[in-house]
Amino acid sequence: MIYSKLILHNTNWKKLLNSFNNNRLAHAMLFHGPEGSGKEGHALELAGLLNCNSADKKQACGKCSSCKKIKSFQHENINIVLPLPRKNIKTNRDSISKVFDGPLLKEYLEMINAKQKDPYYKIQISGANTILINSIRDLKNSSALSVLNNEKRIILIFQAEKLCVPSAEAANALLKFLEEPPKNTFFILISSKPNMILDTIHSRCQKLYFPPISNDNLITKLIENGEKRTQAKIISRISSGNMNLAKKLIYNSNSIIENLNLLIQACFNKDPLQWMKLIDIISRMKNKDKHKMEQIFQCLILFFRDILYFSSSNSNEEIIFTNKKEIITKISKTYLNTDWQLCINYIEDTQEYILRNGYVSIHIICMFLNIQKTMKKNNTKSFNLNDWII
Ligand SMILES: [Zn+2]
Repeated sequence: MIYSKLILHNTNWKKLLNSFNNNRLAHAMLFHGPEGSGKEGHALELAGLLNCNSADKKQACGKCSSCKKIKSFQHENINIVLPLPRKNIKTNRDSISKVFDGPLLKEYLEMINAKQKDPYYKIQISGANTILINSIRDLKNSSALSVLNNEKRIILIFQAEKLCVPSAEAANALLKFLEEPPKNTFFILISSKPNMILDTIHSRCQKLYFPPISNDNLITKLIENGEKRTQAKIISRISSGNMNLAKKLIYNSNSIIENLNLLIQACFNKDPLQWMKLIDIISRMKNKDKHKMEQIFQCLILFFRDILYFSSSNSNEEIIFTNKKEIITKISKTYLNTDWQLCINYIEDTQEYILRNGYVSIHIICMFLNIQKTMKKNNTKSFNLNDWII
């Protein structure tokens, strides 16, 4: 394989392999599915297989000269098209090479280097919001160069929805290409937003859906990469099969766990200083890193789900926070008959209010009060901010 780190989607790979071995591989394909599911990695694996010198036709060998060139993004038959800034481009006829002046070339090479090591890495060049028509025109010129003997030219279009925004001029230029594809040329469009792609392009592509990575596969991969089982389980749940999100969570894990512990403690006590500290942390996160804030709320929800699960089943087999088993047991046995699902609803609502720009301090305090009331089985009406707004 080109990438040892890629979690191969067996069903999709078998489909591709079958078409390839029967000489029925479509000349235009659209790999679509959510972010971080490995679409680009699979496209590069297919490009590897199509040009591999080895006799094994199940996957690229990863060792021959062709595979090595693909690995280093230096294969003469592989073209990568991706969104670029309009820097230095004056007319539609300018070559795309004009974009790559010193700093941008450096940034691009660094990203290519990262992509070589990690099939899930997303190349995102500063100021790049669209696929320029110049990229498609350049492609036409380069694809006019014939490929040798049985070699195949593969054109990979990353973030293919950007062919169509803000205007569809690149998409229309590509369409002409797709109508009469040059011999031995394969187009693989890759997109996590296929709805933004023109219907005329859709109709010319064979589509292959890449679902989120399964929980089990993601956990196994994270453990292989050195994560502890508990951490791997939590990260896998929160990232919902998105490898890129999982990596961000690993990167942030120490600070997430530290803040999560503070948040859990604050849910179960009434110390105003601790509440203020939490409000301060969440407010800062909301301004600086909303995603991290969401991840902490997701962790808190998972923690309460563990309590709900333990309380209703009296078993800790499925618990995600295995490192907090004792606390979870203690909480469920102390606060008997608590409606834990209601507590989860309060946390979800709070997260939503804050994301909709509600006051962090008020919503966090409401959340603590409501959770604590629920735990005490206090039947008084829950504290609702709207009741206080005249
Ligand atoms: Zn090879």
